[in-house]
Amino acid sequence: MSNLNELSITEAAAKLKAGEITAVDLARACLAEIEKKNKDLNIFLEVFDDVIAQAGAADARRKAESSEGKESHPLLGIPLAIKDNILIEGRKVSAASKMLENYTATYDATVIKKLKEAGAVFLGRTNMDEFAMGGSTENSAFGPTKNPLDPSRVPGGSSGGSAAAVAAHMALGSLGTDTGGSIREPAAFCGLVGFKPTYGKVSRSGLIAMGSSLDQAGPLAHTVADAELLFNTIKGKDALDSTSLDQSQWQGRTLPLQKRVGVPRHLLKEGVESDVLQKFEESLKQLQAKGYELVDIELPSAPLALSVYYVIMPAEVSSNLARFDGVRYGLSVKGENLFDDYAKSRAAGFGPEVRRRIMLGTYVLSAGYYDAYYGKALAARDKLTEEFKKVLAEVDAIAVPTTPCPAIKIGEKSDPLSMYLLDIFTVTANITGNPAISVPMGMVEREGVQLPVGIQLTAAHGAEDILFTIGKEVEA
Ligand code: GLN
Repeated sequence: MSNLNELSITEAAAKLKAGEITAVDLARACLAEIEKKNKDLNIFLEVFDDVIAQAGAADARRKAESSEGKESHPLLGIPLAIKDNILIEGRKVSAASKMLENYTATYDATVIKKLKEAGAVFLGRTNMDEFAMGGSTENSAFGPTKNPLDPSRVPGGSSGGSAAAVAAHMALGSLGTDTGGSIREPAAFCGLVGFKPTYGKVSRSGLIAMGSSLDQAGPLAHTVADAELLFNTIKGKDALDSTSLDQSQWQGRTLPLQKRVGVPRHLLKEGVESDVLQKFEESLKQLQAKGYELVDIELPSAPLALSVYYVIMPAEVSSNLARFDGVRYGLSVKGENLFDDYAKSRAAGFGPEVRRRIMLGTYVLSAGYYDAYYGKALAARDKLTEEFKKVLAEVDAIAVPTTPCPAIKIGEKSDPLSMYLLDIFTVTANITGNPAISVPMGMVEREGVQLPVGIQLTAAHGAEDILFTIGKEVEA
């Protein structure tokens, strides 16, 4: 048998159910791996001090449930890693920022509440780009995380710690958040499955907000089945998030499949590295061999997606981060007067990328430029959403490579614009609110090292089942 920390969630759940292992065994295996590697890889910002106690409680609960003849939740006793922008009551939650370095959560995020009800074990909080702004985890105030598959490279971001924790077998699964690709891109760079739900499917209550109309929490895991299990546990309408919705809100087509996958070839003509494109073609062929029809589709507004994202997202960032004023939350630096308190606290608390986006957002929302930038971006967002809707009435899913390249070197993209280009295929699903999944599609070689790349599938609103079904075919 492989080491317990190397099991998938589904495999571990079966062994727990059969009584072959305990949650304490699993937790110990993960903690040992963390102990061995975390210092070098900088994946966990904090490992909780009560992991064994949580696991012991899970084992006791399983015993009690089984003596009552009750079926235990498959996540009972499963050790998970949680991105450091998701609130767990009584624990620190810093969004990897100096601003919140010593901030303690006063309540559970709804996703955490649901995982606690299921009996999952929380190992600790994982490193990320500050306030989820980035695609490499290099923007953390607490140093970059290294990719466990090649420590000279980034794990992706912003949920880089959550991806690396699973890839390094320190946790069996994890939660990340995705505003423009922050679950799918690190999943692709670390050889994992990463899933961004339909906007509104998962409550945002208790997530530290980045772009409120774009943010969704979701799973990172070794298999599609594991991601599906985590998603099904955290989803659902929530009174604490007025933008959350239940499935009845969507008339979108779900199963059965029509077995048609759309490929927007006009988006793949340049910018995608050739061996990544080759892996993409191979996984399409594999789908074809399983009876899927590949359909050439056009998404005329998709080339605008990145520009639209980099207007709407900073606009929302500038307003969401206004609350960090040195008075209400976190870091407080005393100045000469109240305004000076604000300025000094924000200058000391926020890193360069966060400041850049606040300035950009404030600019696009300013009275003189609102119509020229923000208004236009909203109009383009509507158009893109319409185009996706139209195409997704004809095909089950749209396929593209998740990223144009495999994991980049630490320090490779020093200019922010070239970093933003990593998001070219992922931001669209956040703009349109559609669900999207990244599934490993093979390896490409860089400097003698095999690095994973991912295929991204996007489905109609509410049609996550389609993504899990096709995702499992890609995986097989
Ligand atoms: N990399 C993207 C950005 O920097 C996405 C971030 C995210 O999804 N949180 O905005």
